[in-house]
This record gives sequence, structure tokens and C-alpha cells, in this order.
Amino acid sequence: MKKSAITLAVAVTVGLGTIFVGTPAKIEAESISKLKGEQNKIQEKRSDVKSDINSANDKISELQGQQAEVKSDMERIDFAIGDTTTKMNEKTAKIEETKAEIAKLQEETKIIKERIEKRNELLKDRARSYQETGGVVNYLDVLMGSTSFSDFIDRANAVATIMKADQDILKQHESDKKELESKQNQVEKDLSDLKNMLADLEKMNQQLSAQKAEKDKLLTDLKGQEQEAHDYAMDLQEQEQILAAQEAAIQKSIKSEQERQAKEAAAQQAKNNASSGGGSSSSTQSNSGGFIRPAAGIVTSGYGSRDGAFHYGVDIAKAGNVPIWAAAAGQVYVSHYSESYGNVVYILHNVNGQTYTTVYAHMNRRDVNVGDTVTQGQQIGIMGNTGDSHGQHLHFELYIGKWAYHSAINPIPTVPI
Ligand SMILES: [Zn+2]
Repeated sequence: MKKSAITLAVAVTVGLGTIFVGTPAKIEAESISKLKGEQNKIQEKRSDVKSDINSANDKISELQGQQAEVKSDMERIDFAIGDTTTKMNEKTAKIEETKAEIAKLQEETKIIKERIEKRNELLKDRARSYQETGGVVNYLDVLMGSTSFSDFIDRANAVATIMKADQDILKQHESDKKELESKQNQVEKDLSDLKNMLADLEKMNQQLSAQKAEKDKLLTDLKGQEQEAHDYAMDLQEQEQILAAQEAAIQKSIKSEQERQAKEAAAQQAKNNASSGGGSSSSTQSNSGGFIRPAAGIVTSGYGSRDGAFHYGVDIAKAGNVPIWAAAAGQVYVSHYSESYGNVVYILHNVNGQTYTTVYAHMNRRDVNVGDTVTQGQQIGIMGNTGDSHGQHLHFELYIGKWAYHSAINPIPTVPI
């Protein structure tokens, strides 16, 4: 059984109208005021539990608000991660483009260099041939061979043009080469810038991912806390239900006790009037024979310490369709499903003048409802494995008086199990 640490101090010992043991009228009047006192105590406890439920619900709202904040942070981080990832992809593509451009420029530079080399070779060859043939003289021969002044001018211009053209081509090549080299430098600088930007983006992305993981952890944490708060509120609500049922049962007891006393007083009056003898004849459905075993099967776990926790009942296990019996006559005041107990029934008894509560948990099926009066041995359900249970068994608890959290007593030997 898992239960939160909430203590319910509702130690009530009341009789039930229908199964009340007859007592002298004076004591009966006292018993009504005692019942009313217990009712007040339960009302106080219920108001405490209700305020605890409100606190738990406030806590749940607060945790949900915190979760919404974390979720919006995560959304923002996700957006930023998406943004940096897009930028990284862009930079990576741009880097590839730039590398291709560099390769192209390198190729172009190589070609220009080859051209310059070839041109240089050509000019060297020409210079060599000038030298071998007297170079300038040959130019002079060309000039001197002119037939007229205008022919001379033409020839002189032609020589100058050829020489200038050679120089221009070389200059052009040199300037092309410089331009390509400067372009290449620029592109290489671009590449290095891009690589730096990519590295920055990668770093940013890593930081964002780390932030997201942190938020994720926080969210898991908050969800866990909310689950705990929910469980706590559930426990409180279950206790509130049990308290409400107890109050109703006490109310019923007060009413039937008042009726019975009125009847008894009338009978006493009649008896006095008739002046005839004879004792009080209060009806009693008390379980003078004590309890009986609530189910067939073997005891798989007794009352006491178990696995570092405390087992507040006795487990009785048996396979198949196993009926669960009321251990004594009494009034069913809780019959519901709970996360921990599964299908569970609480019965209030009066056995030999003492009030007891018995609890039957993990049932597969419940056969009785709240307010039902049951006889000893009456089937109240079928053994099962519902709620916080591992394997078919009956978890049986016994309380002196009313149910109160963690106050079950060892049912053995009071109940012959
Ligand atoms: Zn158990």
C-alpha cells in the first residue's frame, strides 16, 4: 500500500443504530452527545482536509504556470536552434562555393602564369635573335631600307608598334596576374571569415542545445512535482470521501439512536403505567460470536514490517473466483475504487459492544454499496488484483473504532485468519 503521510486523527468509537447494544437510558443520552462530539471532530477534520486540498490545487496551478513558462522558453530556444541551423547550412554552402571559386581562381592564375612564362620565352628568343643578328641594326636596316620618307615613318612606326605591343601584352599579363592574386587573397579571406562564422554558429548551437536539455530536465522535474501534488490531492480527496461517509454514518446512527430511545422511553412509560415487571428489551444485532475469516486462501503477508515499510494488514491469496465475506455484520460506509486500494469496501461493526472497521482491498468486483447493511459471512465482492497490487489477493485491515490513517491493528487473533 502506498499512502502519503497524512494523519487523520479520527479515533471514533460509535455504535450503529441498527446494531446497537442496549444500554441504560442515561448512558444512551450520553452516547448521543458523544456521537455529536465525534461528528464535530469529523467536520473540523473535513474542513482541514478541504483547505489542504485547496493548497494542493494552488500548488498544482503554480507548477502548471512554471511548466508553461519553461515550455515557452523551450519554444524560443527551439526557434533559435532552427535559426542557427539554417545559418550554418547557408555558411556551409557558401564555404563550398568559395572553395570552388578559389580553385577556379587558382586555375586561372596558373594559366596566366603559363602565358607570362611563354611570353617571356618569346621575348627572350626575340632578344636573342636581335643579338645574334645585330638586333637594333636589323631594325635600322628595316628603317634604312625604306624607299621614301613616308615609308620610313611607316616602318619606324611598325617597329615601335611591335615593341610596344610586346610590352603591353606583358604588362596586361602582369596586371591580370596581380588582379587574380588579389582576388584570390580576398576569397581566401572570405573563406577564413566564413569558417569562423560557422565555428561561432556551431558553438552557439551547442550552447542552445545545452540550454534546451537543461529546460527539458526542469520540465521533467516540474511534471514529476505536479504528479506528486496530484497524488497528494487524490489522497486528500479519498480521505475527504471517507470522512464524509463517516459523518453520514454517524448522522444515521444519531437518528436511529434517538428513535430507539424515544421508543424505549414510550415503552418504559407504558410499562410504568401498567406497573408490570419486565426488563428493558432493546434489540441487539451485536456480533456476539466475533469475527470470521474474510476469504479462503493462504496468508502471503502478515501485519508488520515488510521491505522497509509497514504492512498495515494481512494478505490472503488464492487463485480463481474467490468470494470475499463480511467478517462480521455491519454497515458499509465506503465502497469505491481507489488508485492504491483498487476496489475497496469499508464496513463498520459492533462486535461484543466494541466498534470496529474492516477494510477489504484490491477486489476484482464489489457486491455492496454505501449504506448497505450486511450480515456476517455475506459476500461483499470477489478477490482481485486492482489498485496498487501485484497478484490476486485480499488485503484485509482491522481498526478499533473508525478508520484512521496508519492506525490499523493486527487483525490476528481478533479475526481468525
Ligand atoms: Zn496487503
